[in-house]
Amino acid sequence: MKKTIPFLTLERQHKEIKKELQDALLNTLDSNNFILGENLKLFEKEFAAFSNSNYCLGVGNGFDALKLSLKALGIGIGDEVITPAHTFIATILAIQEVGATPILVDANPLTYNIDEMKIGSKITSKTKAIIVVHLYGLPCNMEPILKLSTKYTIPIIEDNAQAQGATFKGIPTGSFGKLSATSFYPAKNLGALGDGGAITTNDISLFSLIEKFRNYGSKEKYINVVSGCNSRLDEIQAKVLSIKLKHLAKWNNERRKIANHYKILLKNTPIQLQETTNEDYKSVYHIFTIKTDDRTELMEYLNDKGIKTQIHYPIPPHLQECCSSLGYKKGDFPITENLSESLLSLPLFIGMTIDEIQYVSNSIIAFYKNK
Ligand SMILES: *Cc1c(COP(=O)(O)O)cnc(C)c1O
Repeated sequence: MKKTIPFLTLERQHKEIKKELQDALLNTLDSNNFILGENLKLFEKEFAAFSNSNYCLGVGNGFDALKLSLKALGIGIGDEVITPAHTFIATILAIQEVGATPILVDANPLTYNIDEMKIGSKITSKTKAIIVVHLYGLPCNMEPILKLSTKYTIPIIEDNAQAQGATFKGIPTGSFGKLSATSFYPAKNLGALGDGGAITTNDISLFSLIEKFRNYGSKEKYINVVSGCNSRLDEIQAKVLSIKLKHLAKWNNERRKIANHYKILLKNTPIQLQETTNEDYKSVYHIFTIKTDDRTELMEYLNDKGIKTQIHYPIPPHLQECCSSLGYKKGDFPITENLSESLLSLPLFIGMTIDEIQYVSNSIIAFYKNK
């Protein structure tokens, strides 16, 4: 029988905590305090602890978290920032936004994350930071990257938007970098009911600088000491995130279980998966993506079966118009380009049933049988 399986739905996740969320929304309404209040302070404390970091600052969104991290390190015009070619566009646009030049590095063909062996040759006297992205929930191989960071005294910024709760060698992502930026866009593993983001760090001076940046350069009302902007995580979202954070470990485990089911069921098909060489990497499967030479056909076949899939990401950033000033061309990052032509992301969401996982998997198996 044909079913309908969405790529993502938040309905089942929210059903579980609906009463709590409703109370939170009403309590915030009654508190008459909507910006930079107690909810935010509490969430920042909780998220810092979750990220194994001393400090956390809630900001407007993930893009601002990246932008303010770069600004806090004094990065701007004339500076270079090394980052993966295979990422969501926000990582690269944040670098462009502060006036610096993104220096892209091709993907590792197994992990789809930045190729750790190709970073060293891109370092110059202008390199002011390396932004790593733990893409699709899988941590980067941090060991060689931390070594480079120490050797050349170049700070690491983590883009942890897709990997809240992931660990590398038991250490949580979001605690490796000088600064770590994350996003609470609703679809992320920890999502708000709107936009939101955060920065975590152990550095108190960067913390207090960003605290001012996010609020017009002021800590004390109407005393503006640096040229800041407005990027604050509001009280409603902070409260919602506190509620959801309590469930995040459990939800991440559920994602791992779903991914594991897929892996077992799809074992005898020709698809490839995002892989790591050992047990050091613990993904939180923000996205479950498969690599296939038959993407268009498979996507259409699944769509006919009522299964919605997505492509992450159909056009790699270096071939997007918004990055044309960087002067890259087709062929510059072959692994990234190949991924953008062959990755297909399958449905994975909280509350997904075994039946649904089996239906998706069986449909993929049937597609290859009929080929
Ligand atoms: C979602 C995302 C961002 C941007 O977050 P927003 O909150 O949408 O601004 C940045 N980097 C990566 C890798 C993301 O997935």
